[in-house]
Amino acid sequence: MIRRRLIVCGLCLAYLLLPIAAPAHAQAPLKVVASFSILGDFVKNVGSDRVEVTTLVGADGDVHVYTPAPGDARKITDANLVIINGFGLEGWLPRLLQVSSARVPIVTATKGIAPLKLGSEADPHAWQSVANAKSYVVNIRDALIAADPADAESFRKNAQSYLAKLDALDREVREAVAQIPPNRRKVISTHDAFGYFASAYGIQFIAPIGVSTESEASAKDIAGIVTQIRAEKIPAVFLERMSDPRLIRRIAAETGAKIGGTLYSDSLTDEKGDAPTYIDMVRHNIKALTSALVSRF
Ligand code: ZN
Repeated sequence: MIRRRLIVCGLCLAYLLLPIAAPAHAQAPLKVVASFSILGDFVKNVGSDRVEVTTLVGADGDVHVYTPAPGDARKITDANLVIINGFGLEGWLPRLLQVSSARVPIVTATKGIAPLKLGSEADPHAWQSVANAKSYVVNIRDALIAADPADAESFRKNAQSYLAKLDALDREVREAVAQIPPNRRKVISTHDAFGYFASAYGIQFIAPIGVSTESEASAKDIAGIVTQIRAEKIPAVFLERMSDPRLIRRIAAETGAKIGGTLYSDSLTDEKGDAPTYIDMVRHNIKALTSALVSRF
C-alpha cells in the first residue's frame, strides 16, 4: 500500500516537473513557415528534425508575384514562427497576415544586411551572395532558438556545420570566378536578380537594352542584343523566356557569343531539378557561368 502510494506520488511529481524537466525532444517539432523555397531550405538545414517547415511559395514558384492560396492563412495561424526575406520581396504578405490575424512572430532573414539598390527600391535578392546567405542562417538560428530554447544546442550545432558548408561554397565560387579571364567576366542577362552576386564575385550582369523581362524577346530585340554584344565584347548571353531556337542560333552565329543555360535566382527546383537546395543552386549557376565564360571563341 505504501509502495503503491509512492508510485502514485512519484507520477504526480513527474507530472508537475514535466514542463521544466521534460527531455528536449518530448515536444512536437516547431512549426515554421518560410515565405519561399530558398528560406525553407535554410530553415531545414538549421532546424533539421526539430522543425516542420512549410513554404508558401514552393519550388519553381515566383515569390515576386505570388497570389496567396486559400490555405496559406491557415498555415500562418498554425505556425510557431514565420520567416520572411524582407527588402520588399513579399509584397503580398501584409494582406495575408491581416487575413490570418495570427499573432505568430515574424522574423526577417535579411536583418543586418545592407541592401543594394534596384532602381529606387531595395534589391531583395540578397541571398545571391553566399556571405549574405550566412547572415540569413545566423538570423534563422537565433529565431529558432528564441522560439524553442530547449533545442538551442541542436540549432547551434546544425547552423555551425551548415555555415561551414557555406564557407566552402563561397571559396568554390571565388575559385571558379578566378578561372575566368578578368575581361570576360560579363554576361548579358534578362534577370535583374544577380546584383548581390555581381557585387560579391565580380561578374557583371548587363541588361539587354530594350528587352522586356516580362515577355519573350522579339526579332527586333535580337538585333539590338547583337549590336550590344559586339560593342561591349560580351562573351555570353543568358536569356530567359526565349524559347525560339532560331533567335538563339542567330545571336550565336552573328556574334560568336555563347548562349548560357539557365541561371536560378529566386526559387529552388523540385528534387529532380538542377537546384533542389541553395548549395545546388549556387553550384549550378557558377558552373553555367564558367562554362560559358572560361573558354575563348
Ligand atoms: Zn527576383
